[in-house]
Amino acid sequence: MMMKYTEITVRYGELSTKGKNRREFIGRLNGNVTKALAQFPDLHIYPKRDRMHISLNGTDYDAVMAKLSKVFGIQNFSPSIRIAQDVELMKQTALEMMTELAPTAETFKINTRRSDHTFELDTNQINLMLGDYIYDNVPGLKAQMKHPDITLRVEVRHDGIYLSSETIKGAGGLPVGTAGKAMLMLSGGIDSPVAGYLAMKRGVEIEMVHFFSPPYTSERALAKAKELTAKLAPYVGTIKFIEVPFTEIQEEVKRSVPEGYLMTVQRRFMLRLAVKMAEKRNGLAIFNGESVGQVASQTLESMVAINDVTNMPIIRPVATMDKNEIIDIAEKIDTFDLSIMPFEDCCTIFAPPRPKTRPRLDKARYYEEKLDGEALMARALAGVKITEIHSHDEFLTTDQADIQSVL
Ligand code: ATP
Ligand code: MG
Repeated sequence: MMMKYTEITVRYGELSTKGKNRREFIGRLNGNVTKALAQFPDLHIYPKRDRMHISLNGTDYDAVMAKLSKVFGIQNFSPSIRIAQDVELMKQTALEMMTELAPTAETFKINTRRSDHTFELDTNQINLMLGDYIYDNVPGLKAQMKHPDITLRVEVRHDGIYLSSETIKGAGGLPVGTAGKAMLMLSGGIDSPVAGYLAMKRGVEIEMVHFFSPPYTSERALAKAKELTAKLAPYVGTIKFIEVPFTEIQEEVKRSVPEGYLMTVQRRFMLRLAVKMAEKRNGLAIFNGESVGQVASQTLESMVAINDVTNMPIIRPVATMDKNEIIDIAEKIDTFDLSIMPFEDCCTIFAPPRPKTRPRLDKARYYEEKLDGEALMARALAGVKITEIHSHDEFLTTDQADIQSVL
């Protein structure tokens, strides 16, 4: 028999206790949970000050919990059974739950909280009464206060008594949107999707900015970046995908900039364009997937030479991580297999064989002066296309994936 859960109790994560912030946190979380669970029409969501309660109204709780586990701002949650404030009913429900769990356990404890102080029994009385009742009626189960196999949580609230035996870890972090909006520079690689996940985890709403260079990069490379975006969408519902045509800029840079500075100057343009998008769309910062020392474009000298084009904060969530640490997260969020598909990227195609690992800022500025940067950027911006990506969207067919991995 399956447990007849009626509710899910959601406990908030790291949360400032100050009045206004708390209200904003809970309001955002409520909105994000509502969006994440939109496919379940029978649910009722009650965002309270200290907890959130989701009434299942017959909805399958496993499906709901799978969605909930991706919402940032949740510390943990418990499927629970709500009953009326009735002592006999409480004893019977506790007994049913423990009988079902008993085959896999030897020890238990009852942990009661009470927010309705008018209830006839206090927390100690409830702990003792239920403890005795379970001990007498479930053979083989002993009470144990430290590290019991099962903790039965009982919460006496004004609207009923909630019983739960399982606590599932949430995604942690802060509700997406509580920290404002930023642009993520998304390539098709391993690092930038991880950077995006980490940004969202801290409450930042991100929009993807992706540079592509047809015909040097294929439709598949663009599809891959969109597919990566779809992988991150479950954490927020939907993500805006901004594609910026980069072919003309790359061709012009290639024509007039010495090889050693190709990469630096290209990156300066990418960053300028990302900043332009941020300014247009109320973004407050740029996120990217740079990691110190990983490749030539990611030395501190390179960052100095590239960062020069803006004052906007550039946040690099994976800056100090080793590649293996980044890959661990990529695997956890299921972007790794997609990221390693070898579709040509606009940067690899125009990458010089020997980029300067210590580019000089003055030289980067000097070489760039030969280009009509403003006009180039205006044309790139005129070609921007913005779409909204959902988690169930698919852009790469398996055929495309197969063909490419054989090549
Ligand atoms: P990633 O794994 O994220 O591709 P990487 O190790 O390949 O990173 P680079 O190619 O040097 O590193 O890119 C550094 C960062 O620049 C990327 O993490 C990403 O934020 C940004 N970037 C690179 N290429 C693009 C692109 N085509 N569109 C948008 N952003 C890009
Ligand atoms: Mg890359």
